[in-house]
Amino acid sequence: MSASVYRGRFAPSPTGPLHFGSLVAALASYLDARAVGGEWLVRIEDVDTPRTMAGADQEILRALERFGLEWDGPVVYQSSRTGLYRAALDYLRSEGWAYACSCSRREVGGPVYPGTCRSGGADQTKPLAWRVRVEGTEVGFEDRLLGWQSQNLEREAGDFVVLRADGLFAYQLAVVMDDAEQGVTDVVRGADLLDSTPRQIHLQRLMGYGLSRYLHLPVATNDAGEKLSKQTLAPPLDTSAPARELREALRFLGQQEGAGSTSVEILRTAVANWNPAAIPKLVAVKRPNSQHD
Ligand code: GLU
Repeated sequence: MSASVYRGRFAPSPTGPLHFGSLVAALASYLDARAVGGEWLVRIEDVDTPRTMAGADQEILRALERFGLEWDGPVVYQSSRTGLYRAALDYLRSEGWAYACSCSRREVGGPVYPGTCRSGGADQTKPLAWRVRVEGTEVGFEDRLLGWQSQNLEREAGDFVVLRADGLFAYQLAVVMDDAEQGVTDVVRGADLLDSTPRQIHLQRLMGYGLSRYLHLPVATNDAGEKLSKQTLAPPLDTSAPARELREALRFLGQQEGAGSTSVEILRTAVANWNPAAIPKLVAVKRPNSQHD
């Protein structure tokens, strides 16, 4: 693969400080890009403004710097790209792919939308969401780590929201528009997003974009098997010990820990030794307990 055809990215949501799970995603996407001389971008996914924590973006960026994870180009913020998402929705509407929906959460009744407003029945006096049609759509893709994945969108996801009733664009639309507009070729991220990928590929197809390559990483869990996140009270990374945290993330990813005592040295060896085939082929792996290492 030549340098010019690889562009990866790390796309954190600024809902809190980086934790071990986000370091794993940042590190793997960085190494996968740098190992082929590719570019690596950072995008702050603050489209869901009510979940955004003031200052978390800066905290994340400073942590990436402490870990020696240098990005290319300017950091992009989703909150400044509403025009791009609006244009996409206008296009989907004009092609008849998106429709208005006035159903409340109770009326939707479950994770798969039953299509109530699909033939134009939305109550225009209520706040309207916009959904994308998926009827009869089966999406398959080859994950670089996990192999062939497929989903019947109608049965497993249903017509999904691209503009929420509160006026905010949904993650599924924003991520597709940003990856396409930024020329991202490779998505390396946690397997918690594995079941979102078919919806994103469906949108890419409707928009006429080329497909990305995907590699979904095992998700780091706590002892109870829960994904490390703000909700499960994951401890923030120890940015005063970047070398130790990086080694632990490399171990988690099945990589050689490499020589060196500084972040820069560890990363240099990790880039040279990067072996995606050694990543555990699992959707969830317990975080090693650093106290006992
Ligand atoms: N912003 C998403 C998250 O932090 C990641 C999106 C992505 O990598 O596509 O979970």
